Amino acid sequence: MLGVYAPGHDVARLAYFGLYALQHRGQESAGIATCEGGHITTMRDSGLVSQVFDEEKLKALEGDMAIGHVRYSTTGGGSWENAQPVWRDDGRELALAHNGNLTNAVELWNELKAEGIAFRGTSDSEIIAALLSSSDGKYIEDVVADVMPRLEGAYSTVAMTKHAIVAFRDPHGVRPLSLGRLGERFVVASESCAFDIIGAELMREVHPGEMVSLTERGLETRQVVRAGSPAHCVFEHIYFSRPDSRLEGKVLQQVRGKMGEILWREAPVEADLVISVPDSGNPAAAGFARASGLPRDDGLIKNRYVARTFIQPGQELRKRGLRLKFNPLPEIVSGQRIVVVDDSIVRGNTTRQIVGMLRDAGAREVHLRISAPPIRNPCHYGVDMSTREEMIAHNRTIEEIADELGADSLAYLSMEGVYEAVGTPPEDHCDACFTGRYPLGDPEEANGKFALEQIAVPAK
Ligand code: SF4
Repeated sequence: MLGVYAPGHDVARLAYFGLYALQHRGQESAGIATCEGGHITTMRDSGLVSQVFDEEKLKALEGDMAIGHVRYSTTGGGSWENAQPVWRDDGRELALAHNGNLTNAVELWNELKAEGIAFRGTSDSEIIAALLSSSDGKYIEDVVADVMPRLEGAYSTVAMTKHAIVAFRDPHGVRPLSLGRLGERFVVASESCAFDIIGAELMREVHPGEMVSLTERGLETRQVVRAGSPAHCVFEHIYFSRPDSRLEGKVLQQVRGKMGEILWREAPVEADLVISVPDSGNPAAAGFARASGLPRDDGLIKNRYVARTFIQPGQELRKRGLRLKFNPLPEIVSGQRIVVVDDSIVRGNTTRQIVGMLRDAGAREVHLRISAPPIRNPCHYGVDMSTREEMIAHNRTIEEIADELGADSLAYLSMEGVYEAVGTPPEDHCDACFTGRYPLGDPEEANGKFALEQIAVPAK
């Protein structure tokens, strides 16, 4: 997700390349909206950024400002109607992109329906857009200030009207949102790697409960809602954000390397070789090798052109995607006692197949070292981790998980180890998928992924 206010620049091209850098955050659909002479144009479609846009489409997207989005679904399915940016005109024309998950989506949807507001899709993002678009108020900044207290859950959001781009973050700052400078102009994005690719410079993160507004007057900020206790997603540090992004003052490549070092300290093992599950396990594997003094090599080669399996929705697609993804190298692993370092295990399908492939390639022993604790709880704040029952760590001990995966040994990094590497206080984070402690209230009350489909299309 990003926003660029930059009159005089080719804003569509800036948005395109920014989204290109953020592709890992969602691969179901991509979209860009621009505003030219008071007219908002939105283009969005299913697929990767490079599949959705070509030179001709970018040329048609003229303007002084742009917002963009790559989607993977948390509330609402992956259908075209749910692609973003969402465009609405219920009195105020706007386009909007959102990262997160509203926990009161059903309640708000019902309220808006009762007011006669119709929806095209079934995403919680369209609810935010409808609230902003239908509310009275001359300035979008005031409207955001009215609407934000009605939203519950995780929402890093960027909206564009004919006059401004506004970006705002929920009072707990669950999902990331950063502010950057592009010469005399300003940009916002989910991650700082989007700034690097377009030559912008990271200024800081948007504060929890803060709104930044990018207009011809430059940058204005307002603390709209009093910040609650911070609940920054710790999984962004472990896996989700790109390793060259900066979060809470640190580049994630180094944070993840430190996780690998601590993992060795906590769970050493007698072995001959360290390999990573590429690409997401690379930094932790490097740290593990560094701390252990063991040699490291690439025992698994990844097909770079296969999308990350984690973000493809649906069990069957995940399994099918996987077989295309990794190829073990018998020349590297045969006869060796291998340590395989990965960042996390959710369902375990990927890991089980990797262990099997390495054994087939001749590995003598396979020891799994994971640079995060076991994931045992679903995320209600914007990461699709599926249900508790599908998680391999659900109701299993570490030994049982190791058996299930076919590994000779398995160890996870402790929560304390994660925070030692992250370097900011544990109480400033959400770690609910690991600990079951949900910082924004009772998770059972939260809506499931298809909650809005169930209301919009009553079950037969
Ligand atoms: S539950 Fe996990 S993935 Fe979801 S916001 Fe919390 S730490 Fe992040």
